[in-house]
Amino acid sequence: MELKGKKVLVVGLGKSGLAAAIFLRRRGAQVTVSDIRSAEALAKDIPALLEEGINVEAGGHGLLTFRRQDLIVVSPGVPLDTPELVQAKSFGRPIIGELELAARFLKGKILAVTGSNGKTTTTSLLGEILEKAGIPTLVGGNIGVPVVALIDDATDATWSVLEVSSFQLESTEQFHPSIAVILNITPDHLDRHGSFENYALAKERIFAAQDEHDYVVLNADNVRAAASAKRSKAQVYWFSLEHPVELGAWVEGGAIVFRSAKDVAPETVMPLSSIPLKGEHNVENVLAAVCAARLAGASAESVRAAVEQFKAVEHRLEYVATLNGVEIYNDSKATNVDATAKAIAAFPGNIHLILGGKDKNSDYTELAELLRSRVKAVYTIGSAAAKIESQLRGVVTLHSCETLAKAVSAIAAAAHPGDVVLLAPACSSFDQFESYEHRGRVFKELVNEWRGWKVWQNV
Ligand code: ADP
Repeated sequence: MELKGKKVLVVGLGKSGLAAAIFLRRRGAQVTVSDIRSAEALAKDIPALLEEGINVEAGGHGLLTFRRQDLIVVSPGVPLDTPELVQAKSFGRPIIGELELAARFLKGKILAVTGSNGKTTTTSLLGEILEKAGIPTLVGGNIGVPVVALIDDATDATWSVLEVSSFQLESTEQFHPSIAVILNITPDHLDRHGSFENYALAKERIFAAQDEHDYVVLNADNVRAAASAKRSKAQVYWFSLEHPVELGAWVEGGAIVFRSAKDVAPETVMPLSSIPLKGEHNVENVLAAVCAARLAGASAESVRAAVEQFKAVEHRLEYVATLNGVEIYNDSKATNVDATAKAIAAFPGNIHLILGGKDKNSDYTELAELLRSRVKAVYTIGSAAAKIESQLRGVVTLHSCETLAKAVSAIAAAAHPGDVVLLAPACSSFDQFESYEHRGRVFKELVNEWRGWKVWQNV
């Protein structure tokens, strides 16, 4: 793809938009970036862009800006039904995302991981396994390092391990991973994708460009992810917590086993007891990683060694502290109902659960069974509180707290030794926080303050 002299518009100035704009400019394109945020809000990035010779349009999108381009690169945060994009498309302007742009220039092979939950955990784990196996490895994508930022370092021998979201996959065409992993497909982002099926179809784009030389790794226990096998041209490998599979990884006799081919005996990779992460969902992530890593050529020993040393990624069921016998966990990244269900299921009972934030058109009644059996009380926060309370009234004890600070202080007054405190809010954070990371950090600061509270000393 020739970029020299091409007019390219980058829509949305997030991390990946910024990286894409600079990449395009350095390859000789005439680049404009357009963002609906104001010049003040973008102030910290504008000088660097102007210095690179990139035009900046802030505070809205001009229609003409969109018409004059040879290519439009859209950031994952910008919905494809934005009117300016719809119109540009009707004028025949090619529209791709940063992932697609990067994939056209990235040397070596791609191992891509998608799913509703577990992407970051599994992607980081895979990065560590391949590295341990001595394979030249780069890690990027939705995990925080834009894929265009990997291009300069990748060689023909590189495996790029990429976390890819449904938003990124929506605008791919030639994106072609040698190994594609779909961890699970459960309801999320219905506010943006419109329906569960649309969301699932966006996830399936991960294997759209694959052929019979490639591999797809699917979760046999997740109905919608398993159904994707029918539409894939690649060789299908499975992972399952529940039963043996023909090809792939499963749990048997307290260990993870893997079978690479039908006429080969299964190999024992590692005992479950050497997985240092909490919760069965993390066993699923390890199973998926075992499959993908073995297919990429990593030895069973390197898988085992990397898993044993792996630490939970921050804000993913992260252990915070034990205060007077009460264990406290930060799962701020539980931004949908399934992740929250998995977090609750990781503890046998006596849970004080903080729920709420910005609703994503979710159905919280799906938590009812787990709440009844394992949760002492729910503390609601944020703009979704009223909906959560109306859906869960009568199921569990509810406390309206409005803010995280009030929720933590209410829990500090109520918790007893042996209880568990869990921030796993099932909602996004944007009503009260900048991000889920911000929410998780505030939670940890509040827990720190809690150490000194008088009320706590009296428990
Ligand atoms: P993602 O990148 O897909 O958001 P993360 O690894 O960041 O995935 O985890 C997101 C949330 O989902 C966290 O709350 C985590 O504890 C939970 N989670 C991790 N793996 C799984 C899984 N396989 N199934 C369900 N929930 C999971």
